[in-house]
Amino acid sequence: METNFEAQFEDTQIAFSYKPDSQLKKANFIFTVVNNPAISWLGTSLVKLGLAMHLPIKGIIRKTVFQHFCGGETIEESETTIELLGRHKVCTILDYAVEGEKTETGFDATCEEILSTFEEAKKSPHVPFCVFKVTGMADGELLTKIQANEKLTSEELEAFEKVKGRIDRICHKAFEFQIPVLIDAEETWLQTPIDDLAHDMMAKYNRQKAIVYTTYQMYRVDSVKNLKVALADASTNQHFLGIKIVRGAYMEKERERAGKMNYPDPIQPNKQATDDAFNQALEFCIDNISRISFVCGSHNEYSNQYLTTLIKKHELPHEDNRIWFSQLLGMSDNISFNLANAGYNVAKYVPFGHVTSVMPYLLRRASENTSVAGQSSRELRLIRKEIKRRKKKASNRQNGN
Ligand SMILES: Cc1cc2nc3c(=O)[nH]c(=O)nc-3n(C[C@H](O)[C@H](O)[C@H](O)COP(=O)(O)OP(=O)(O)OC[C@H]3O[C@@H](n4cnc5c(N)ncnc54)[C@H](O)[C@@H]3O)c2cc1C
Repeated sequence: METNFEAQFEDTQIAFSYKPDSQLKKANFIFTVVNNPAISWLGTSLVKLGLAMHLPIKGIIRKTVFQHFCGGETIEESETTIELLGRHKVCTILDYAVEGEKTETGFDATCEEILSTFEEAKKSPHVPFCVFKVTGMADGELLTKIQANEKLTSEELEAFEKVKGRIDRICHKAFEFQIPVLIDAEETWLQTPIDDLAHDMMAKYNRQKAIVYTTYQMYRVDSVKNLKVALADASTNQHFLGIKIVRGAYMEKERERAGKMNYPDPIQPNKQATDDAFNQALEFCIDNISRISFVCGSHNEYSNQYLTTLIKKHELPHEDNRIWFSQLLGMSDNISFNLANAGYNVAKYVPFGHVTSVMPYLLRRASENTSVAGQSSRELRLIRKEIKRRKKKASNRQNGN
């Protein structure tokens, strides 16, 4: 395994430079809670119950997990976070994290909100991308039906035309403002129409450079092959490929459905296979950097470090605008801030939306950060290391050392 990396992620002073002591203590509390599976389960169950019973718990959520993982309830409220991160050379990708819209009015409202993120990106030097999820603007069941090749009713056909219209408006805005837009990847059973839409948008708007980025989930067994096909197609059609590489967020759901419905599991057989595919995708993108711009969306230290070695090997500048690193707000600051400090392009997904509407997003963060999932013990260790360092520094100062 390569060990001579170009970036190191252990410097907690850099990692948490944007967090005052009070926020660091809060982070310690949050990760201590989620790190314990039993307490985390109890906490998330109580939150769900409390919200269902309309108990006044919004205030507590807002002051704790919401403040840690989200920018605010609105774009304006998120500006403080954008500025704060920006001062430390970490950029922001405003992520409208409201999920579960079901009506045409709701889909239109989401589309308008995403269009507003471009206005923010235009005025701020710290917002290099915008992002959206197709299911924020389309009924998931409709997409599933399309993928399954089921016959659509005239209302469904009309609804899908509206979906296409919304996506085109957003991608057109991205092109007009020259602010690239990322299209998130979702569950395999509705991803094909999303891929098709993304492909059409890339063919239309990526003629001079990558403006529209599609996402490859490397936990899918078919992703490496699909990536190669996409490059061949882009070369033939003379457009640029915008790619976000992630491992994938819906593994349990995917396996459960495949098992229940008795079709082959679309997910890699084990974590190592996903890791290998992810790192292979990084190599593939760097090898084809003249046609591919990409975002490495990961909290995995090895993958992020590996990308820095690939950048060096190909003699590319750290700040090459075709290569971005990205993590979620409130997670893996050790990776984001140390990479930014070393001059690489880094952007955090900063979710925003009403407290109750972003709950599904927050609950996912809670479950992926339990010690079972393995993330939070690293976060906790680093947070505690930094608290200790600050205490020691303060006591040295008091003692006149
Ligand atoms: C900026 C950003 C954007 C993102 N956008 C998307 C998106 O559009 N769509 C999406 O689905 N996710 C998205 N994610 C989430 C992402 O897919 C991962 O769930 C998450 O980041 C954890 O993976 P990791 O690379 O950080 O590394 P790690 O924590 O090292 O890996 C964990 C991941 O490995 C895979 N894995 C774990 N165990 C196994 C196993 N037994 N077999 C096979 N694979 C396994 C799973 O994908 C799991 O999430 C995004 C993440 C970031 C940081």
